[in-house]
Amino acid sequence: MRACDQRSSSARAEAPAAAVSAPRRPLILTLDTQGQPQRWVSWQHALFYYARDMVAWDAGATHFTFHGGISQRTGERSELTANSIIAIKGRVLASRDPRHVPPLSNRELFNRDRHVCAYCGAGGPSQKLTRDHVLPLSQGGADAWMNVVTACRHCNQRKGGNTPEQARMLLLYAPYVPNKAEYLILSNRSILVDQMDFLTHHLPARSRLR
Ligand SMILES: [Zn+2]
Repeated sequence: MRACDQRSSSARAEAPAAAVSAPRRPLILTLDTQGQPQRWVSWQHALFYYARDMVAWDAGATHFTFHGGISQRTGERSELTANSIIAIKGRVLASRDPRHVPPLSNRELFNRDRHVCAYCGAGGPSQKLTRDHVLPLSQGGADAWMNVVTACRHCNQRKGGNTPEQARMLLLYAPYVPNKAEYLILSNRSILVDQMDFLTHHLPARSRLR
């Protein structure tokens, strides 16, 4: 375990200078062997997959080269290359439930709704936005993707504990559950161009990210 830690800390120390045209901490997009996007992993985690021979194929246009420590035996510096999009063998990545619903959080909700209030259409930074429950919690509404929209503070206060009909406030757009590709876009702020191209092909037709 200790040797593993030393190797990874050595790689981390070398990575900023060694990474080729890469963000400082690129996230690697992993797929299952069917080519379905699964999750983001750190480059350290990606190197683990390479070292364990768990990478079935790659699909990205970006490669990162990482330099590790110098081998005492050979005197050579170890070098590992990772692709920006990798398919992982076996079932390690597959979600048990294909209908898996991504976790709800304000950051991804505001991104889903493009930072636009669902009632007045005003846009704004996250600090000025709130999570509105279309059917209020006090009336039995769920805290779930299909029952939440982005609302500015003013509209949320005005709506209070009412439904849109009761408050006479029309919804400008409908809530929906992001699929996995969409959630991966929503949850990563520094997606590489090739990763975005790949994920865009897996977006549902109704996605607002298109
Ligand atoms: Zn508003």
